[in-house]
Amino acid sequence: MEHRSKVVVVGAGFGGLAVARELGDDPTMDVTLIDGNNYHTFWPLLYQVATAGLDTSDVCFPVRRIFRRQPRVSVVLGWVTGIDLDRREVTVDDERTFPYDHLVIAAGTVSASFGVPGVEEHTFPLKSADDALDLRTHLLAGFERAAAGRSPQGDLAVVIVGAGPTGVELAGSIRELVDKVLCREFPALDLANLPITLVELGDRVLAPFHPDLSAAAARALQLRGVAVELGVGVERVEAGTVVLADGRHLAASTIVWAAGVTASPLARLAGVELGKGGRIVTDADLSLPGRPEVFAVGDIALPPGPPLAQVAQPAIQGGRHVAAQIRARLAGQPTRPFRYRDRGSMATIGRNSAVAEFPNGWRFHGVIGWAMWLVLHLVELIGFRNRASVLVNWVWNYLTYDRGARIILRHRMPPAPTPAPPGSRRAPDPDDP
Ligand SMILES: Cc1cc2nc3c(=O)[nH]c(=O)nc-3n(C[C@H](O)[C@H](O)[C@H](O)COP(=O)(O)OP(=O)(O)OC[C@H]3O[C@@H](n4cnc5c(N)ncnc54)[C@H](O)[C@@H]3O)c2cc1C
Repeated sequence: MEHRSKVVVVGAGFGGLAVARELGDDPTMDVTLIDGNNYHTFWPLLYQVATAGLDTSDVCFPVRRIFRRQPRVSVVLGWVTGIDLDRREVTVDDERTFPYDHLVIAAGTVSASFGVPGVEEHTFPLKSADDALDLRTHLLAGFERAAAGRSPQGDLAVVIVGAGPTGVELAGSIRELVDKVLCREFPALDLANLPITLVELGDRVLAPFHPDLSAAAARALQLRGVAVELGVGVERVEAGTVVLADGRHLAASTIVWAAGVTASPLARLAGVELGKGGRIVTDADLSLPGRPEVFAVGDIALPPGPPLAQVAQPAIQGGRHVAAQIRARLAGQPTRPFRYRDRGSMATIGRNSAVAEFPNGWRFHGVIGWAMWLVLHLVELIGFRNRASVLVNWVWNYLTYDRGARIILRHRMPPAPTPAPPGSRRAPDPDDP
């Protein structure tokens, strides 16, 4: 029987999907794509799930569905817990093992606390669909508690740490949710001045963008009523309080940690050389030094030269590049270095407001930037159903200021009280006279 080369890809994110899609039609290969989730997440719109603008099924897409027409790609649900580079096999959490001829590690990043005390215990990350649902539920339930008089209204303040694209987009979107939706639905609460604060250690928001666009984004946030605190770090986080390095205490019932990421712990599992941010050091062709059959792609990879931004395009382009290198190796040809083509960056602040910049120097903000942001994100989203659903939601939200996904999950019915046995006295009720 003809030997088909086994390619194992770990991670069905932007990088891993790109590899599997490129190789999935190749009759000389069997591709196994392993992910701990059965869905691919379109991260750029996750903040809209956290703020009730979209639902998880709008931004998450079942991986098996993506490869329905590429039956050579076997999709495996499982968390990779071991990589044996000498035996050339990976192990998943239920002990299944997968041998490979070529391995691609594309496991992305996890939220990083950078050792700041209290971050793990008292803040919300935004690094998974579960995180987005937890944040949405917590936010919405907080307003219900305040309306029921079970917590002081002052407790509703929000602090977001980290003014990169995630922090900026989240701050703008929470402000809009409060001002346009919740203000109307909770008339008894005075929400107009609800404090929403964005804290950033650097001296500007959206640091990777041109300073003019950073300034435009900061202005747009402040005009909307988001307080922007620049040049100050977080010393620690306590329950309900962010303690800043300059000694100030910011009270908040919702604290979001969007300050940064570090490579997935899988990088350490592989027992290979790690660089800045725990990323796997690779050669110029994205293969691991001394392991030409193993590649790292996307946020987890650190090729030579200035570190690539941890955004979607390097992962997608890197994935396509690695697929081509695997083909080249199987054909006995030399591999080529990875060259990233910058296609520009965008971030949105809210309705009618976004910033966009391109490598040719073109820069946009305001409505034009926002229109570009909308079109690009619709085009990049996977699947016609998701595009249609997101478009309908956006048009609806734009026209009505409504947010359809205002659903509080995990609010379970309390267990029914056990009936007292006949003849026994009922427990005393504290409200009884
Ligand atoms: C909230 C948020 C918003 C963002 N917004 C933007 C944006 O607007 N524009 C932009 O360009 N970029 C944005 N990014 C960054 C962008 O999403 C990443 O750079 C990109 O996803 C990196 O692709 P990747 O393939 O390396 O990793 P990912 O896309 O993160 O995929 C990694 C995959 O690996 C899986 N995985 C991890 N560990 C294991 C394991 N042990 N076993 C099995 N599977 C595993 C994960 O489940 C995941 O599916 C955003 C990121 C976040 C978190």
